[in-house]
Amino acid sequence: PRKLSIDYAAALNPQQLAAVTAGDGPSLVIAGAGSGKTRTLVYRVAYLIDSGIDPSHILLLTFTRKSAQEMLDRAGELIGSRSERVCGGTFHSVANMLLRRYGRTIGVEPGFTILDRGDAEDLIALVRSQLGLNEKDKRFPRKGTIAEIFSKAENTLRSLDDILLEEFSHFADHLDALGQLQRGYQAAKRQRQLADYDDLLVLLRRLLTEDPHAQESISSLYRYILVDEYQDTNRLQADVIRKLASTHQNVTVVGDDSQSIYAFRGATFKNIMEFPALFPGATIYKLEENYRSTQPILNLANCIIEEAAEKYSKRLFTRKLDGPLPTLAEAAGENAQSRFVAQKILELREEGVPLGEVAVLFRSSFHSFDLEIELSRRGLPFVKRGGVKFIETAHVKDLLAHLRVVANPLDAVSWHRVLMLVEGVGPKKAQDLLASLVKSDAPYRVLRDVGGRSGQGLKNLAHTLESLAGSADLGTAEQVNHIYEYYLPILKEQYDDYPKRTRDLDHLHTIAEGYAEVGQFLADLALEPPDGSAVDVEAPDRDDERMVLSTIHSAKGLEWQCVFVIWIVDGKFPSLYSFVADEDLEEERRLFYVAVTRAKRHLYLTYPINVFDKSSGMLLSKPTRFLDHVSPAMFEQLALIEEGGHSDWRRYRDDSY
Ligand code: ATP
Ligand code: MG
Repeated sequence: PRKLSIDYAAALNPQQLAAVTAGDGPSLVIAGAGSGKTRTLVYRVAYLIDSGIDPSHILLLTFTRKSAQEMLDRAGELIGSRSERVCGGTFHSVANMLLRRYGRTIGVEPGFTILDRGDAEDLIALVRSQLGLNEKDKRFPRKGTIAEIFSKAENTLRSLDDILLEEFSHFADHLDALGQLQRGYQAAKRQRQLADYDDLLVLLRRLLTEDPHAQESISSLYRYILVDEYQDTNRLQADVIRKLASTHQNVTVVGDDSQSIYAFRGATFKNIMEFPALFPGATIYKLEENYRSTQPILNLANCIIEEAAEKYSKRLFTRKLDGPLPTLAEAAGENAQSRFVAQKILELREEGVPLGEVAVLFRSSFHSFDLEIELSRRGLPFVKRGGVKFIETAHVKDLLAHLRVVANPLDAVSWHRVLMLVEGVGPKKAQDLLASLVKSDAPYRVLRDVGGRSGQGLKNLAHTLESLAGSADLGTAEQVNHIYEYYLPILKEQYDDYPKRTRDLDHLHTIAEGYAEVGQFLADLALEPPDGSAVDVEAPDRDDERMVLSTIHSAKGLEWQCVFVIWIVDGKFPSLYSFVADEDLEEERRLFYVAVTRAKRHLYLTYPINVFDKSSGMLLSKPTRFLDHVSPAMFEQLALIEEGGHSDWRRYRDDSY
């Protein structure tokens, strides 16, 4: 037998070792937070390469591209540069790549355009008005809701009828119209070579089903498939995995049903439970030791998840017995909460905890706005994850739309956006132009031939686009620059705060410099927009010098020495909307469990006691109901006492609770 280059037994516990060194065939690792599932996958990659598997035959699927990269970097530290040839990415990025390579047989051209959620909604609205569907009806669902309904249907492999009747019954009257709209939307995407996020997977599944030749090539390319965070996959993804692996069944998935937090996108923790049925003969591994957190943090996490209605994983233990109790801090208001967090971070830094080991987590992106101001005021650098990305802002989308119509002249959504920016073009005019543009094979001439009030603007536009289309040798950054020059006067005209917005465009230019190919640049931006805005660029380059502010959803799989979870106010977290259905409340509980289990040593849970509510004014809040059954002995409880202009954090007396 081959001599292995790593001492696997020294780096892994016996269960992890068994999963890492398992022979061919399907396997499932199911275990709680911090038990080393991701580490197991990293070692599995190294082990496969170590035992002679060609790295390019390995496919690693993760929830973000960044985490795929980090896992492969870690595998590289173990096994050397061979790991660079492993194919790693998200389901969407892999689907994108395979469709561009093999999609022609099912009518997908390599130059197709990816619609992000906003684009998809715009196209739905466009098709609706073209079809003249119930335009005056105020009770017709709005474009965002329609997009959600369509997406749910795709991701859960259910019919539109099913989704409407079960989850959106108040729109059931519109079933026929929505059916017509769905067909129109699908036809529009097909005709114009557009694919929304769901289509990437739907089309890949179709390719694997309908083109045996492509199926065979892909299946013999990826002979080992590894999936992290399997609890957050949906039925469609599970089916894609099954089809990818149909000839060899070499699939290793890891996950934790208690951390399933993407039901709103159609994910289901039931995928984990059903894995053995989908892959008969699967070996199941369970990991029980937590290597991340101290005992006091784990005690709290165990308490929270114990109350869950459905769960399969076992209770975790740790050998890190000592550590401070988690803190539950009550602040007078939001601003006091921000001051508390900032002050604690400064204290922790004094104690030697680097900023890069600190994270502040919250349920919704806007929960951190006040804190962001406080941190900036004190000069504490941070990067924000989750929430609105700079790429989703109007001006960045405007600029990109120009590049997109050049790349795909059939892209109606981007044409619409581009035309509406031209002086003298209103919605009616844009619609008319659009109709003649997508029919013509010389769109630029159509634009040049328009007279009247918008004539000059359209000529300028045609000139700009045409010069790009004709210069294949221009680099991506140069193309961005070219559009920028055309767009700047429009930007100044449209926005008072244009100086700030030009910084975002500069940032876009910097990103573009990393790309030789415009197509790849556009696809990457649509699939996984970079974090933060241009403002962050001014912060230090090194990640260990700034803390992370993140939605809990974007903190999945990560860990920090010190974690703050802010706004744990009942009605905010869990959200009011989740009180209605048990399964929604259960999802919020799992989200809280994910948040708490990110902490290695210090955990602070904070809430403002006075909360402003739009309809009722000031309200007295209470902490999240998920702590109702947790013994007060599990916390250190603090409250802000303010006396004569002097404020201090005091320990809460237990009996006051
Ligand atoms: P999550 O459910 O949050 O994704 P996970 O199960 O993927 O967690 P990992 O992130 O792989 O857990 O591991 C948590 C921490 O424990 C990491 O810092 C990892 O390096 C460490 N760890 C895991 N297993 C071992 C081990 N056998 N020996 C030493 N450290 C370990
Ligand atoms: Mg993990």
